[in-house]
Amino acid sequence: MSGPILTVANLMVRYGDLVGVADVSLTVPSGSIVALLGSNGAGKTTTLNAIAGLVPPAGGTVTWQGTDITGRPAHAIVAGGLALAPEGWRLFVQQTVEQNLRLGATVIADKSRVPALLDRVFSLFPRLAERRKQRSGTLSGGERQMLATGRALMSDPKLLMLDEPSLGLAPAVVESMYETLAKLKREGLTMLLAEQAVELALEVADYAYVLQTGKTVLEGPAAQLADDRDVQRIYLGLETEGS
Ligand code: ATP
Repeated sequence: MSGPILTVANLMVRYGDLVGVADVSLTVPSGSIVALLGSNGAGKTTTLNAIAGLVPPAGGTVTWQGTDITGRPAHAIVAGGLALAPEGWRLFVQQTVEQNLRLGATVIADKSRVPALLDRVFSLFPRLAERRKQRSGTLSGGERQMLATGRALMSDPKLLMLDEPSLGLAPAVVESMYETLAKLKREGLTMLLAEQAVELALEVADYAYVLQTGKTVLEGPAAQLADDRDVQRIYLGLETEGS
């Protein structure tokens, strides 16, 4: 691991009068997995969307490889090597698996690289290779998550942001998705991972930040947070759910 590839300082995002994110700061070192934890509505999606240029920040800065990219349009940010696999997948359901993947490579200037990128995604997710001519709307939830992740990888990112890759998936499918994330990490990919599935995220991550009502309230090495039951109870509500 080396220095930071991404730094977010005092990010603020407004939705009209509502504050989506009040004050989020985080650092992602190159080669690491950083988890962004927090319950429903804590501001994880808003943070990732603001980094990706999908919503405009009202304050704070996003620094990517030493350059201030705050407020740049999404296409410029993807072209710079920062890709998002969004929550809810946002696929083109009438298009085939392969067409969706090719759309992910829109920012690749040298089109001769596309077949190799496609092969890489198909070897990571053999199920997508089997389904390559199938319309995305007919895929299972797990396959859609694979496709959203694969599509983000088609831009050959230096940093992959994943918004709740476990959401709505069966445990076995989640496990296989996380095995793939671990494999990508071994290949050197840097990741920023938003999750409500805290234990899972802390298993794969190196470092984690906890968001609460739009603010980073806690941070630490993943192993340390995983061991701290108080942290989980107070900030993540793990032991209070349903009570
Ligand atoms: P989730 O797991 O539900 O996605 P989250 O931690 O990602 O939760 P956000 O979706 O970022 O949280 O939401 C942060 C806050 O911003 C919440 O109060 C939410 O209601 C609000 N919010 C999010 N999107 C919008 C929007 N498009 N318009 C208005 N308010 C929004």
